[in-house]
Amino acid sequence: MSSPLQSRFAPRVADASCAKPGEDDRSTPDGQDVDAVVAAARACRLCADQLPLGPRPVLQASATSRLLIIGQAPGTKAHASGLPWDDQSGQRLRDWIGLSEARFYDPAAVAIVPAGLCYPGSVRGGGDNPPVPACAPLWHPRILPLLRNVRLTLLVGLHAQKLFLSGSMPLTERVRLHPADSPLLPLPHPSWRVVGWMRKNPWFEAETLPQLRARVEQALGG
Ligand code: SF4
Repeated sequence: MSSPLQSRFAPRVADASCAKPGEDDRSTPDGQDVDAVVAAARACRLCADQLPLGPRPVLQASATSRLLIIGQAPGTKAHASGLPWDDQSGQRLRDWIGLSEARFYDPAAVAIVPAGLCYPGSVRGGGDNPPVPACAPLWHPRILPLLRNVRLTLLVGLHAQKLFLSGSMPLTERVRLHPADSPLLPLPHPSWRVVGWMRKNPWFEAETLPQLRARVEQALGG
């Protein structure tokens, strides 16, 4: 089955290569093995000199993954453990989508490929830097087309949405107005800042989250 990322959105990323000449052989993903490409991504050291804690790509994916989660980049806890979404934001995301840790961390069912695979450092005054710009153009075109069983993709936060959705709609409108049956669903980033946003936008908890849980179960089911 062709995933929506293969057919509609992958080229948007694939066109924007930032890899150094001679280092990028993204000729075609056909025939490549997901496990081998994920292993290659985990060994990536392309921008080691830009990363304050050094390279540690954090991702999971398999050929059978049915749900794809694209967030921004690992935080310090995920960098330390090597587990994606290994923090309070991840717990909130799991609550939103109704998955236990066991189901969330099962790459046979769930692929997690952020916009930046490594922790990008923090900005003065709090918060993390944006994902490393070179990362998604280098790795998404190699990994995402191999995820042929993905039925639903969650775009968590603005950095992920910028990669795959056109237009400059504010996040609240984008989350609220995006078609509920779309194969790509935009979500706010589930950091502590979202608590106030959810108070101001009660429709998200009352309407969006029940629909989201149903879509995730549908994607992972049978
Ligand atoms: S951020 Fe991406 S491109 Fe840079 S070292 Fe990590 S995996 Fe490689």
